[in-house]
Amino acid sequence: MVELKDIYNRSFKTLRVSLLDTCNLSCIYCTCGDDDIKQNYQASKSRSLQPADLVSLIRKLHTLLGLETIRLTGGEPLIYPHLIKVIEGVRDLGVDLKLTTNGVLLEKMSRALKAAGITSINVSLDAIDEEVFNTISRRNDVSRIIRGIDAAIGVGIEVKLNAVIMRGVNEDQVLPLADYAFQRNIRLRFLEIMSMGHLHGTDDSRFYSQQALLDQLAARYEFQPLTRSKSSTANYWKTAEGHVFGIVANESQPFCNDCNRLRLDSFGNIYGCLSDNSPIRILETDTTEGLTEKLQKAMNQKQLEKFQGSALTMLQIGG
Ligand code: SAM
Repeated sequence: MVELKDIYNRSFKTLRVSLLDTCNLSCIYCTCGDDDIKQNYQASKSRSLQPADLVSLIRKLHTLLGLETIRLTGGEPLIYPHLIKVIEGVRDLGVDLKLTTNGVLLEKMSRALKAAGITSINVSLDAIDEEVFNTISRRNDVSRIIRGIDAAIGVGIEVKLNAVIMRGVNEDQVLPLADYAFQRNIRLRFLEIMSMGHLHGTDDSRFYSQQALLDQLAARYEFQPLTRSKSSTANYWKTAEGHVFGIVANESQPFCNDCNRLRLDSFGNIYGCLSDNSPIRILETDTTEGLTEKLQKAMNQKQLEKFQGSALTMLQIGG
């Protein structure tokens, strides 16, 4: 293991792996239209790294960094054809193995995911109302995702929810999402929208702040702040009834100063920060010295203050 730290004492302990750069939804913050997703769907599915290459890269990174968490994401990881092979290839590493999904295929895949070694899943769900869900995702059937959540919980996987809230789009879903999550004892996090991809450089009229979220929630619930744990992306609160919710306040309350995340994309590039679009290719980097040097370069990408916006979407870099 190498002691890779920057002068602010940040290290890489969480690896987010994007398995592919396409999705079976076409959310308005990730894509600027459905055509792009549909036209590139098959090509994107087949041009991602093969599972053996991905597993080998993840294992090398773990050997050097002593990772604590690996989160499989994308694009949509449940449509990566070799997902189970990747999980099986890294499950003996002794790290927390987690997954982020839109939940569309969760009903079908929960049992296999659990058997392969996944213990915790974040499901992205921006609306409970079908029409609002359709406006955001450009797809139908929110009930399929709800069934997927039930299926995952049913096989013993911990489920958490993530919801991006946008002014004028789904701000009316804050309380329905909270009611749904609290009733089922699911931890819910709201996300401030980030200026990525086609949103980069546009006005922030859809931005819905941490304070606006808290104001809405305060109208129905009493809650107290919890102490933020080191390297957490979210601030958390606990309601009087004991339910916990969080807010990922990228803009209102940035958390760059103790960020411990490294990203690996589906082509074998690493990134130390969402704000820096420069891919650092590690695919053919075979020596420890070579990989350490590239990791140091990724570390230097980290911002000090806040997310600066990015021309890449989460779809490409891995959310
Ligand atoms: N397909 C999976 C999913 O839906 O969870 C994993 C990838 S998705 C890109 C990961 C997360 O990034 C989702 O929760 C999504 O809402 C979030 N996301 C994507 N673009 C975003 C943006 N511009 N601002 C805030 N969150 C964003």
